[in-house]
Amino acid sequence: MEEILNVRNLHVNFSTYGGTVKGVRGVSFHLNKGETLAIVGESGCGKSVTANAIMRLIPDPPGKISDGTITFKGKALTNVSEKEMRSIRGVDISMIFQDPMTALNPTLTIGTQLVEGLLEHRRTTRAEAKEKALEMMDLVGIPNPEERLKQYPHQFSGGMRQRIVIAIALICDPELLIADEPTTALDVTIQAQILELFEQIQEQTGVSIILITHDLGVVAKIADRIVVMYAGKIIEEGTRKEIFYQPEHPYTKGLLKSVPRLDIKAEELIPIDGTPPDLFSPPQGCPFTARCPMAMEVCDKVYPIQSELSDTHKVDCWLQDERAQQLLASSSR
Ligand code: SF4
Repeated sequence: MEEILNVRNLHVNFSTYGGTVKGVRGVSFHLNKGETLAIVGESGCGKSVTANAIMRLIPDPPGKISDGTITFKGKALTNVSEKEMRSIRGVDISMIFQDPMTALNPTLTIGTQLVEGLLEHRRTTRAEAKEKALEMMDLVGIPNPEERLKQYPHQFSGGMRQRIVIAIALICDPELLIADEPTTALDVTIQAQILELFEQIQEQTGVSIILITHDLGVVAKIADRIVVMYAGKIIEEGTRKEIFYQPEHPYTKGLLKSVPRLDIKAEELIPIDGTPPDLFSPPQGCPFTARCPMAMEVCDKVYPIQSELSDTHKVDCWLQDERAQQLLASSSR
């Protein structure tokens, strides 16, 4: 499979009056062409910071990509100038944010906002841009596109606004679409429709998608692979099947027990007790230790060595390391 994006050992820090927040701590993953990768984790785990780092949208100061590389189609985005990055954003890589109302300009018609990117980045006439806008409205399932292009954002429902935002993100035919919590502000019925729309768009355009969400339930149907983030690190990654049916990290297991699932019989939902660690001074060992029902002595002291359970399934947990199993056995005697 052709790799389109590669993130290696990414570190993002934020300088504050209280000290340095280590928002992302050595994250590595890749995305293949035409694939949907979900990045999942609680609020503050570093998933949105990772997405913003790919787009080079980390405000500096206070933020800084302090280490690591982000390579998109062979080009190191961490090294390109801001001018070059502007020509990549919205053209090769597009991003969709959580709240469609704030993403749209309330004073401009939908038609104007749709063609803006196209006129700026592509050599196109107004007539061609309008033609493309109508095509995109059709792609995202907006009826009466000719009429709707003349209307303003407040004349659309929340779900329709999110469809417009998706159309704007796709109008320059990007190869990578990053969607940061694209369904969080929507009710569940509309959520399902938007997720279905992502699937259809991928089938029709072949765009690669990174879907960021705090809700594992959202990605159950559409993600090819899932990475689970906790306290600025990826603690487990695998195919959708591996994460949903053979999760190994206690945090992933906890996440799965805390969200409703359509694919298995309803059980009681169990929240994960406690809160994530303070990223001003993250623990040197496993950051989940304080909340983990399986924690051992070693967990608090040393960060777990990554275990490869298959070519695609990797987990950072001492439970998968036979030396820790021996420790566990000896401590329970
Ligand atoms: Fe729990 Fe230890 Fe595994 Fe961390 S390394 S998840 S504390 S068992």
